[in-house]
Amino acid sequence: MKQSYKKSRPARQEGFRHKHSLGQNFLTDAALLESLIDEAGVGAEDHILEIGPGGGDMTRLLSGRCKTVTAVEIDRDLIPILRVVMDRAENFTLVEGDILRVNLPEIMMGKTPFHVVANIPYYLTTDLMNLLLGSDLPIRSINVMVQKEAAQRVLARPSTPEYGPLAIRAQYYTSPRLARVVEAACFTPPPKVDSAFLCMPWRDAPAVNVRDERRFFKIVNAAFALRRKTLCNNLIPAFRISREEAEAWLSRANLPATIRGEALTLQQFADLANAETDDPSPI
Ligand code: SAM
Repeated sequence: MKQSYKKSRPARQEGFRHKHSLGQNFLTDAALLESLIDEAGVGAEDHILEIGPGGGDMTRLLSGRCKTVTAVEIDRDLIPILRVVMDRAENFTLVEGDILRVNLPEIMMGKTPFHVVANIPYYLTTDLMNLLLGSDLPIRSINVMVQKEAAQRVLARPSTPEYGPLAIRAQYYTSPRLARVVEAACFTPPPKVDSAFLCMPWRDAPAVNVRDERRFFKIVNAAFALRRKTLCNNLIPAFRISREEAEAWLSRANLPATIRGEALTLQQFADLANAETDDPSPI
């Protein structure tokens, strides 16, 4: 199954023009791409979902190293190029479409569990993270190139400006780590900011014990709705409860009435979600 890597630049040879609107900053350096795949830790037994294969440089390496590669590409101009680049790869499936709209359970059918490995378009980072972290697909890991500041939002700790629903969702389901910072100059064309390759292996069990995940994430979203407000003041409208009820709820979770949402650890959010409330229909 192993393929030799040709250092050609098919996308450029075909006179392809990169589209800024689709976040097309390509990576073509084989050594760098190999090292990213090493960081993802994927191998011969693994099924891969690649989001935005672009000119196919990473796709070709993944196909040589992994069991199957399924790639979803939105740009019609890249489809014929990818078909040529991936011509002889029997373990490769190309899906033309928008990753946010394709039927992922259908296209990954028979290729589960799977790992996501991709240099994603940065404009999609939050939507993609929400899609993958919120899905109940059997995902083993998410390994993605993102803007450095997006990586900081995933890795953020409580009481920092970057901490928010994305960090909590990511750290609840996965164990994210910053594998590499990649300079803008490594991309064609270079983006305006440096990037970071995030490796997020899925946890065997969520980081904290939560009885009702919908309630947990509703609290998390409410806590950051207005960052300058206290947690209490954010819970009142979100759960349609009185100040007294909100303060009693915080107290049952051993939290002071004045605390801000951004100060809570995952465990404290879980304690709040698991604490009994007087409200019979809190969601
Ligand atoms: N993987 C290639 C590489 O590393 O050179 C290209 C990466 S480039 C940052 C992002 C890719 O995602 C582009 O090929 C772009 O056309 C594609 N893309 C953008 N929006 C997309 C979407 N909604 N669904 C699927 N692919 C998308």
